[in-house]
Amino acid sequence: MPTPHLSPDRIAALQQAERERFVATHPASMALARAAQAHYLFGVPLHWMRDWPSPATLFVQSAQGITLTCADGLPHADFCLGDTGAMFGHSPRALAQAIAEQAAQGLTCMLPSTLAAAVGEGLQRVFGLPLWQMALTASDANRFVLRWARAITQRPQVLVFDGCYHGAVDDTLVDLDPTSGRTVPRPSVLGNVHNHASFTRVVPFNDLAELKAALAQGDVACLLAEPALTNFGLVPPASGFWAAARQLCRQHGTLFVCDETHTVSTALGGYARLHGLEPDVLVVGKAVAGGLPCAVYGFTIDIAQRMVAAKNAAPAGHSGIGTTLSGNVLTLAALNAALNHLHTAANYTHMLALAERLEVGLTERIARARVPWTVTRLGARMELQFMPHTPRHAQDVREHAQSELEALTHLFMLNRGVLLTPFHSMLLVSPETQWNDVEKLLAVFDDFLSALTAV
Ligand code: PMP
Repeated sequence: MPTPHLSPDRIAALQQAERERFVATHPASMALARAAQAHYLFGVPLHWMRDWPSPATLFVQSAQGITLTCADGLPHADFCLGDTGAMFGHSPRALAQAIAEQAAQGLTCMLPSTLAAAVGEGLQRVFGLPLWQMALTASDANRFVLRWARAITQRPQVLVFDGCYHGAVDDTLVDLDPTSGRTVPRPSVLGNVHNHASFTRVVPFNDLAELKAALAQGDVACLLAEPALTNFGLVPPASGFWAAARQLCRQHGTLFVCDETHTVSTALGGYARLHGLEPDVLVVGKAVAGGLPCAVYGFTIDIAQRMVAAKNAAPAGHSGIGTTLSGNVLTLAALNAALNHLHTAANYTHMLALAERLEVGLTERIARARVPWTVTRLGARMELQFMPHTPRHAQDVREHAQSELEALTHLFMLNRGVLLTPFHSMLLVSPETQWNDVEKLLAVFDDFLSALTAV
């Protein structure tokens, strides 16, 4: 159901006005965008950076706490937080200090630093699993875990949920064709020559019957899943879904790989720990070391024994797992500081309480304005959804997509000093976020609703 009194013409007119406002108020970012155009594909170091809805990318002068100051010297209350990489705030003091100290004593050695054992202990303390390996990105970690899972189960298939995103991992860049119900390669993926749909199955989230049917063939190495979909709108699990799904995986000898890269915002140690999902393998990236490139994957002793057996049984040579800089000494120092100072009960208490107040504030305003929108929250992260109910699966999100309204929301807020994640309307509360930041966001949201609904 589209928002009734919002005509596409009105949205387009507001969008145009916001674009003009951005150009007028961001001359330095506009100039930097022109200069960068000469040296970068699409004018930015990573082409996703053009996915923000502004006429030019916002160039960053500095980021501290949740204040991101752009090239024009304008402060922004950052609720995007690097799409979770900076979930604990930008450059937390303890982290910045640990990085600075280590930076003067070696960056990478292809050897563990003296901190390695303590970091392992810290990972177990925070996430619960006893054994760990490291990678530089969550994409890498997921890719490596898929290799391990296939190696130790000797099964070819991987199972994911429709609408999933686990990084630049070929096997997972597949879709569920809504008409045929078949798994198909994702059409947007460039340079694809392999048919990953032949080794990956996709089922709808929250659908136990489909999950059961996909597992019943007995050839699935692992279910790779987020506890809630976070990359296709925020889609929480239905009550009882995970208890049953976990049981089905066990019954069919399929490993459960839980990707907590985003859902680590749920609670200290992540969703799986809070809800007792008992994953065989747990992946966390992005914020795990406070935003320094780092990802980790942990596993049970049983899985570790099977990994060792698989490695020992393989001929000598490259395992296809690992990259040169993984587990470097700078990353270990950052991870150590993050585990001790960022992944703390006090931080989560603050984040969760403030996130709840933000959710209440948004929900009240939505009700007052009588727009058919929803706020769905999972711990410290939430999404403003332009649909009347919390989605149940990816198809539900597709059917309610309102990309123009979404882009307008982001630009309107950005122009008034509030950053939302551009990919969908995700808001994240960090330990550095304060009530006055939430008040600022809510005031801008009031202005947005007034602008949209003015007759
Ligand atoms: N897993 C999940 C759940 C993610 O959301 C992402 C990125 N958004 C990744 C993995 C990949 O992270 P990275 O881009 O840092 O490799």
